[in-house]
Amino acid sequence: MAQNYDVLVIGAGPAGYVAAIKAAQLGLSTACIDKWIDATGKPSLGGTCLNVGCIPSKALLDSSHKYAEAQKGFKAHGISTGEISIDVTAMIKRKELIIKKLTTGIKGLFKANGVTSLAGSGRIVAANQVEFVDHEGATEVITADNIIIATGSVPIDIPPTPVNGETIVDNEGALAFQSVPGKVGVIGAGVIGLELGSVWSRLGSEVVILEALDSFLPMVDQQIAKDVQKNFKKQKLDIRLGARVTGSEVKGDQVTVQYADAEGDQEMTFDKLIVAVGRKPYTDNLFDDSLGIKRDERGFIQVNGQCRTDVPGIFAIGDVVRGPMLAHKGSEEGVMVAELIADKIAQVNYDLIPSVIYTHPEIAWVGKTEEQLKAESVEYNVGTFPFAAIGRAQAANDTAGMVKILADKETDRVLGIHIFGPSAGDLTQQGVIAMEFGASAEDLAMTVFAHPTLSEAVHEAALAVNGHAIHIPNK
Ligand code: FAD
Ligand code: NAD
Repeated sequence: MAQNYDVLVIGAGPAGYVAAIKAAQLGLSTACIDKWIDATGKPSLGGTCLNVGCIPSKALLDSSHKYAEAQKGFKAHGISTGEISIDVTAMIKRKELIIKKLTTGIKGLFKANGVTSLAGSGRIVAANQVEFVDHEGATEVITADNIIIATGSVPIDIPPTPVNGETIVDNEGALAFQSVPGKVGVIGAGVIGLELGSVWSRLGSEVVILEALDSFLPMVDQQIAKDVQKNFKKQKLDIRLGARVTGSEVKGDQVTVQYADAEGDQEMTFDKLIVAVGRKPYTDNLFDDSLGIKRDERGFIQVNGQCRTDVPGIFAIGDVVRGPMLAHKGSEEGVMVAELIADKIAQVNYDLIPSVIYTHPEIAWVGKTEEQLKAESVEYNVGTFPFAAIGRAQAANDTAGMVKILADKETDRVLGIHIFGPSAGDLTQQGVIAMEFGASAEDLAMTVFAHPTLSEAVHEAALAVNGHAIHIPNK
């Protein structure tokens, strides 16, 4: 008779593997099933995030940023070099090594914490039974008091541009080009489109991004989004809004895309086309609807604020449930669910999940945008401060962008922090901490910020909320 586990997790992405480790740390007997197979045919933990998402994209963003700096940024510092070139194969190999190191690291963490790692696929056959099929095809039924579904998401495919893995690729293919394409088309000016579009643009590709919507980054505070749009234009990212892709034709090693915009029908030919139009929850072959686990109309598993499905003892976390598709959101849900199973009080503050787009400069935010506050009829004060007026940004020759802080007009409580600028992701985290503690703009303003740091822009923006910025330009 196979062992009965306290907790069985299906999926070892950042939601599932964190849930499994936390459950084991809380003394629960825990197993985690994952079916990911890497390019060499070996099982690999870490899900989308580690294998084809957060980490590999950041590896390429960092490599390409260094290349662009060496090409265009060094001169201002008085540094001259010989001819700069990029060895794409070496860059991709470095990315693969980072993936290997981190995915193997999770294997080590599972071992160290006593999580049983099961390579293969899981299918829930009853409220506390999972059929496990390993990669050799051997099947066993595993029982568990609690099941956590953490099966993540997969890219959305659109009929006009079916991914073929060669000329038309999704995020996975776009992280593995073996040379710099001459011309790259990207469908979707969302997070992946901007990050991966930036990578190949910095390395020398001509990049055109086709976005169906008329507005740019609608989820971002629009004052910031406008600043970003101007800056990206200067970076030669050709972003075409209101462009509806209607078809494509692959001829040899090129693809011609047809799209319609305000000017009528258009056509453009690319060496590579990246489809980045969003992701959808992944629950293929995971359970029969007769089990009582419900999905919404978009395929997300329905859960309450504690990530409980309608079936007692079955939880769902991460990209497969509502909320932003972000690694840290899934991980926090994993911790919460493990703690709930261990009879502890736990919650996730869904109002304060930070978002970061890792372009250069970065775009990052937490809390409400000005548009949201207006729609909710909340009265607010605004403080903004440009990086151009920050000594450290000048010293680094990295002066684009600004910090914007929104605070409640009556209570001064910080309601949103929006940053476009160098290290915006890390700077926004200061805002997350402040907001988690219910800080007012004055609390931030009265905090001592080290000089000279980029974070002084956060300080000055907080001072500016109540009209007290010191280094305010053009007053
Ligand atoms: P996943 O990471 O998708 O993991 C799900 C796992 O479940 C997979 O390993 C899969 O093999 C396994 N699985 C599925 N079904 C079964 C089954 N039946 N049996 C066994 N195993 C199964 N987020 C950020 O926060 N920051 C970023 O910078 C960032 N960058 C990204 C860049 C790209 C290019 C992409 C594509 C995504 C990025 N994301 C980023 C999003 C992030 O990757 C996801 O939000 C995150 O991976 C979701 O975690 P998850 O654990 O829910 O699912
Ligand atoms: P996204 O939702 O961010 O962007 C998709 C874009 O494609 C949208 O702007 C949408 O309007 C557009 N679009 C949709 N259909 C289209 C069509 N037919 N033609 C033209 N444009 C179309 O999705 P994504 O960029 O694919 O990323 C998927 C998920 O992965 C996101 O939810 C994101 O949270 C996550 N992710 C996060 C990070 C990060 O945190 N830095 C990085 C990458 C991905």
